[in-house]
Amino acid sequence: MIKKCRTIPLKILILAALLRRLHPNHPGRSKIGEELRFRRAGYYGELSLDYYIAQLPQKGHYIFHDLRLPLSNNAFFQIDLLLLSNRYFIIYEAKNHSGTLIFEEQQMLQTYEGRTESYPNPVVQVENQQYHLTNFIQNHIRIPLPSSSFVVVTNPSSIIKFDSRYEHIAGQKIIRPSAIRQKSELFWKNNQKPLISNADLQNITRLLLKLDTPLKPDILREYQVKKSDIHSGVYCDHCNCLSMVRAFGTWKCRKCGRADKMAHVQALIDYYLLVGDTITNRQFRNFLQFDSVSAATRLLGSLGFPFNGTFRNRKYELSLEKLRKWS
Ligand SMILES: [Zn+2]
Repeated sequence: MIKKCRTIPLKILILAALLRRLHPNHPGRSKIGEELRFRRAGYYGELSLDYYIAQLPQKGHYIFHDLRLPLSNNAFFQIDLLLLSNRYFIIYEAKNHSGTLIFEEQQMLQTYEGRTESYPNPVVQVENQQYHLTNFIQNHIRIPLPSSSFVVVTNPSSIIKFDSRYEHIAGQKIIRPSAIRQKSELFWKNNQKPLISNADLQNITRLLLKLDTPLKPDILREYQVKKSDIHSGVYCDHCNCLSMVRAFGTWKCRKCGRADKMAHVQALIDYYLLVGDTITNRQFRNFLQFDSVSAATRLLGSLGFPFNGTFRNRKYELSLEKLRKWS
């Protein structure tokens, strides 16, 4: 049973919003585009796991995608995929790198298009997650749950190689998506006895969902983009530019004439991703480039965001989840 679904990572949404609103000649554009392609490929790699995840045991098993849990006040650990039951848990870490991947004890080497790069060993990464989650569960219910973990290489065209001194470990831990069920099965079979009550399982589930803290990365700082570099306006999906204007109670594209009553929602999503999570009537009009205070009040009011402050200083609290329901 899926307890937390996979959603498009915020980083992908922010990078895409940035490309919609950066000047075509901005020096950061090509790097941002490259990063967006890499992140999207990783996300599609994770989506390709779904077929195999559906083959994991369902009864009495909870599946969580993309958890980010606190270790201390400002340190977190992240899990791509967690399978939890009253007998054990298993963590799966997805890697979507291209080219030839050589797994060594200290690192992973990627050779792609004639270049070799070094990355942290993902087996150590996933074992760290396993260690932290074991502690997390033990701290709350005082029982150490048996656990296992795997690195799943999702890019079908990549070539996996092991350093001969490390093969005995890596060969067991690094798998292809199609081996998820087979590799996990032995662990399930050896851990059949329930160790925690159903109430404790529900408690852990609630806690995982409550403490999950998705990261909102500071992309503007990372790519040295100033807020003044972000163009305002309302985007036309058809022309791929900020060419929509407010006219007769709707948004109309100056270039192709397409009308869209709800085009302000996408602009608000971009505002949330690139500027901030609260907005005033004035900020709304400035970002969407129109003048009517009463129309802005109507549009903001119709989306049902909570607000505080009196009319002039009223601040609406935007939520991505709500905005995406409107779009
Ligand atoms: Zn258009």
